Parts: sequence; structure tokens; C-alpha cells
Amino acid sequence: MRMKRIIVVVLVGLVALSAVLVVRAVLDVPVDDDRVERTAIADGFAEAEERLAGAIRFPTISSQDTSLVDTTAFLSLHAYLRDVYPGVFGTLRVERISGLSLLLTWEGSTQDRPPVLLMGHLDVVPPGADSLWVHPPFGGERLDGFVWGRGTLDDKIGVVAALEAVERLIAEGYQPERTFYLAFGHDEEVGGSNGAAVIADTLAARLDGKLSFVLDEGGFVGNGLLDGLDVPVALVGVAEKGYLTLELSALAPGGHSSAPPEVTAVGRVSRAVARLEAKPFPARVDGATRAMFEHVRPYMGVTRRVIFSNLWLLEPLVRSLMAADAGAAALIRTTTAATMIRGGVKENVLPTKATAIINFRILPGETIDTVTERVRRIIDDPDVGIAPVNVYFDPSPVSDPAAPPFALVRRTVRETIDMEDLVVTPFLVPAATDSRYFTGLSDNVYRFLPVVVGRDELETIHGAGERISAENVRACAAFLYQLIRNTEQLKDGPADQ
Ligand SMILES: [Zn+2]
Repeated sequence: MRMKRIIVVVLVGLVALSAVLVVRAVLDVPVDDDRVERTAIADGFAEAEERLAGAIRFPTISSQDTSLVDTTAFLSLHAYLRDVYPGVFGTLRVERISGLSLLLTWEGSTQDRPPVLLMGHLDVVPPGADSLWVHPPFGGERLDGFVWGRGTLDDKIGVVAALEAVERLIAEGYQPERTFYLAFGHDEEVGGSNGAAVIADTLAARLDGKLSFVLDEGGFVGNGLLDGLDVPVALVGVAEKGYLTLELSALAPGGHSSAPPEVTAVGRVSRAVARLEAKPFPARVDGATRAMFEHVRPYMGVTRRVIFSNLWLLEPLVRSLMAADAGAAALIRTTTAATMIRGGVKENVLPTKATAIINFRILPGETIDTVTERVRRIIDDPDVGIAPVNVYFDPSPVSDPAAPPFALVRRTVRETIDMEDLVVTPFLVPAATDSRYFTGLSDNVYRFLPVVVGRDELETIHGAGERISAENVRACAAFLYQLIRNTEQLKDGPADQ
């Protein structure tokens, strides 16, 4: 009798819980249901494609070793841009920063409103073996509806789209109310310390208050990138992960391999790496990634919609769903990647030193210090040295997706990108961008261009076969053109004034 009652209570409880889960899912209406008229601004950017192709022909490869940089390529690119965008370069104040970066200032008609910063970078990563490219990396070929070459997606499109937008606005006699800055760094791919960092210092010294918002590369429009979501998604980066590389090292006396110690230097370092891989960083669905799910879940299939609408209860399930896919896992945890290992010189000689290089991408909420501390704890071996390598930085702050400039970006995407059911969502950028140098100058730092890409095109960034469709080129220019105009209606929050 008592058993029966317990079963009934449990069943009633389960039914009630299911009802709660489903009701929460049903009540979860889209966050961005503003409907706007799509305009055909893109048609006015028919020549953008050819001008981008021209910019690709300058091999502006950056290098950690500045003596290896082909400065002529950068200066020739400057001259080219000056040539094809006479309106911009004749109207805006142009400054070269650290010799090869550009800072352009389009003075507004009033000083009362916080300025806006649009960013891009002039440098590219090396193309790799020529044989991998069907269309030469610096040929700037236009074929099959695409512009081909290194830098088409990352990130000469960002530079060209901004210049296209401003050139056209100037030709139309447009005068912005607030000041716009265009900042194009020359060393983003090697850390940005001479380009964006110096531009940020320059602006910090000039600005009275903060910038209204900053827009850089980093997010894009994805189709089929998220499991269970069949609508296209505009991923607007509101945060980016931090970056840390640690070198693990072990020293040993060496000697003949016929009389080895219990653990060699190679063994010690390998054990440390194995311990780290066995204990990934804890997964969390918070910050920008949680905001992303809140934006996209109304568009998911029934099962996933129920799951993602009830993160309060089902977050562990979401974590395990995401952890199964490397791309998704990067959005919910600090990642650990063992990328290099070295030790020993000869098969029968004991190594005196072994090292391993581990690259971490740090989730907002953690820091270089907390990550290093955890690594030390997990390796749990005082004989393994742990030291940071080269560039490292903490994750960015998370810009509030409820702030007015985010709504402005969202509206502009929907006005200029001709895609049915396009959802605009906040996003955690798993890679690093130059925009991180500006998080002290604005509360609203976004990383986005409306390039529509699939997984195969994403893989060409830093790989071979990089390309961008003519349609994407026009869409990016149209988006920035409209964004500048729409900024007139932007009500800056109290924080900006
Ligand atoms: Zn880039």
C-alpha cells in the first residue's frame, strides 16, 4: 500500500516536471523577433570584389621577427588603397602607426556623442606550399563567383568592406554625426603588439570618454554549424577567449641508456602531458555561450528546445552533448592542446632535457593565473618546470548583448543580409582578435562580419584555398554602410556619456 503511494507520487512528480520543462520551452519566444525591411544596398557595391582582389595581390605577411617583414608589400598596399579609395583618403585624417598600421579618423559633426571604431587587419599568415593552392595565394584571381587568395576572409575583407562603405557615403555627401575611426593593424596574426596595441594607446590618449562600440573580425554567419539548429545564425562575438602557452620541462643527469633511472626526462614530461589530457578543464555553460543558447533555442527542434530552455535543470546534459564535439567543446571550457614535444638526441643516450608545449585557450571567468595554478596541481610533480611562452593574455570581458549597440548590429544584419530565418546571436569567439586591446576603451566590443560560410570555407582560413564569394563581399560592405547610417539612431547608454 505504502509502496503504491510512493510510486504514484513519483509518477505525478515526473509528469509535473515534464510539464514544466515543456511549458518553459513553449513560452521561450525568440529574443530578436524585430522585423525589418531588407534593403538592396548590396547592389551598389558591384566593384568591391575587384578592389578586394587588388588588395589580395600584396603579400603582406606578418612575422614575429620584424626583420623578416616585407615592408614594401605593406606600403604598396597603403598606396593601392589610397589610389582606389580617393574619397576616404582625401576626406579622413590618415595616420600611419608604427610605420605599417593605419588609423583613419572621420571627424563627426558633433563631439557630444561617443565615437565608433571599425577595425580590420592588413596582414596575413604565410600561405604554405604553393602546390596546395589551385589559385595562387597572392594572385587575387576572380573566378567562379569567388575572389581567391590569402587574406580574402582573414581579414582584407574587413578592411575593404569598411573602406567601400565610407567611400560610398562620402560620394553621397554623407557627414556622420559622431566620429568614426577606422583602424587597420599590420601584425594581428603575430599578436598585434605594434599595431592594434599602439593604436589603442593613441586613441586612449585622445578620447574624453569611451567609444560607443567597437566592431572587429571574429564572428560570421554560419549555416549548419550547430547541431540541431537548421536556421542560419549570425554569430556576433561579444567575448573572446584568452591565450596561454606553457612550456613543461624536465631535466635529468643523462648517461648511457643501458642503465636508465626509473623515470627519464622524456618519461617525466610525457607523464605530465598525459595527466593534463586526462583531466580537461571543467565545462561551464555561462557568459556569451549561455546567451547564445538563449537566443537560438526557440529555433531548435522540439527535443533540443526542451533541453536548452531548461538549462537550470539540464545543464549537465548540455555539457555532455557539447563536449562530444571539439568545436562545441571549445565554447564551454578552457581547452588544453599539447602541440609540441622534444627530448633526446640519440637512441642510446639518456636525455638531459625534455620539453612539451601546451597551448590553452582560456574561457572567460578564468585567468592566466588560475589556469597555471590548476596545471601545476594536476601535473603534481615538483620536478616539472612550468613557464609561459611568448604572447599570453587573459580572456576578454563579455559585452552585454542587451546593450543598445548590440540591437543596432542585430537590426543592421537583418536589414542587409537576405536570408530567411536568420537568427542573430551573441557568441564567444574561440580565437583571438586585435579587438582585445580596445576592451578598456568601450563596454561594447563586437567581433563580426556578415560573411556566410560553411565548415569547408572556415577551414581555408590559415589553410589553403582561402576564398570569399562575390555575394559575401557586397554583403559586408552593405552591412557596414548601413551600420554607419543606423548609428544616428543609437541611444548611447549612461555608461557612454
Ligand atoms: Zn584575422
